Amino acid sequence: MKICARSLACALLLSITLARPDAQQAPGSAPHKVALVGGMLLDGYEAPPIHHAAVLIDGDRITQVGPAAGMTIPKDYTVIDTSGRTMMPGMIELHAHLVILGHGNYGTWFPWVEKHGGASMLTRVMEISARQLLSAGVTSAVDLGATLQPALSIRDRIARGEIPGPRMSMSGPWLTRTPGVFPLEYQIKVTSPEQAAQEVDKLAAAGVDVIKAHSGLTREDYQAIADAAHKHRLRVHAHVYAETDVRNALETGIDVLTHAGSAGTAPPYSEQLITDIVNRGRPVVITAAHRSWVYPDTAAFPERLQDPQLKKDFPPDVYAEVQDSLKHWRALGYFGRTDREMLFRERGVKQFTESGTVLGMGTDSGTPMNFHTEALWREAKVHVDMGMPPIRVISSLTRIGANILGKQRELGTVEPGKLADIIVVKGNPLYDILALSAVETVIKGGVVHKGTAVAAPRGTASQH
Ligand SMILES: [Zn+2]
Ligand SMILES: [Zn+2]
Repeated sequence: MKICARSLACALLLSITLARPDAQQAPGSAPHKVALVGGMLLDGYEAPPIHHAAVLIDGDRITQVGPAAGMTIPKDYTVIDTSGRTMMPGMIELHAHLVILGHGNYGTWFPWVEKHGGASMLTRVMEISARQLLSAGVTSAVDLGATLQPALSIRDRIARGEIPGPRMSMSGPWLTRTPGVFPLEYQIKVTSPEQAAQEVDKLAAAGVDVIKAHSGLTREDYQAIADAAHKHRLRVHAHVYAETDVRNALETGIDVLTHAGSAGTAPPYSEQLITDIVNRGRPVVITAAHRSWVYPDTAAFPERLQDPQLKKDFPPDVYAEVQDSLKHWRALGYFGRTDREMLFRERGVKQFTESGTVLGMGTDSGTPMNFHTEALWREAKVHVDMGMPPIRVISSLTRIGANILGKQRELGTVEPGKLADIIVVKGNPLYDILALSAVETVIKGGVVHKGTAVAAPRGTASQH
């Protein structure tokens, strides 16, 4: 590769290969050496940006970071010109669902999947969702609810580089006392704390990455689930809305409070609850945008439901079915309590953003009208609109997300030694957070999965 890279033609060829959308690194292939040069760098800390920066990647790791002017780019590196753009760590989505992709009605979606290929259609759907997330700049994601085997298999296929997608952490089926509208294989019905603990043992043995505790669970259930999960070094994400559920989850050691603050119950939480969450440093993933913002945003611009990207990403049968399900979107049962949520949405979010709560970002991506293509930038915009400084939101999307996953040594920042999960966006997200909707380049583990960035001629790299 070194010899090849000495000729300009070879170097260009190499970079074209690297920049090909969805390019995959074959297992065991030679490591790539890539330099991202020229753009502004946000490294994941709440620190001033590095202007005209360069980032060197060798194999799957970041090796050097700093102002481009002070850096020598070795000759065997493929240079990707990021001038005029922003480089930042890949985003971490803490609440996604690969088995759904924006369809309006779970009650008809899953039977449709069953009728149109069953397991093979489900696999196709999960592959589409994973590709959309990665393309939207999400390089790590937590899936909180899927049947066990398809979930683990898609995670592993992504990890082996066979299909494009974020690094997935999978919960498999969730634990609940009150199974809901998802098919039964997505849920494990809990009838006692002892049984809940046994189910956690089984999920751990099967190889899940996290546990999801869904609704209707008692305080004793949470305790049993948290204890069992921690024995296996697994973290528990609890789906909690009501104050009592949030408090029970908090006090029994549940690791992540997801949905809290998204105004699913009214009125906003007591001050004491917020204080206790903050003092314990317990992470919250609000999933603010998924109902109470997506709904009015769709009323204002229903055209978003026909985003051409969806038509491009979905096979015609899936596209037609999703469109059909959204024809009467205002009447969907999923949005039945949205009026109330809209009334409380601002107070719900601000309780957490203004109190210093540890906030991760998650969207419940895949839920009705909540497309994976828009994962995270809508959520980020809500947080900024509610007064959170953009730099803090970006750190929440990246570094804090990695902390919440327990992967802070590998992910979440652009620093030497970390895995090379980096995205390049058009514009300046510190000025307008919607720059996050214009993800031009996605690099995961040193492999360029998306990017039209043309390699700058060698030798011009350190001109800045
Ligand atoms: Zn949930
Ligand atoms: Zn969810």
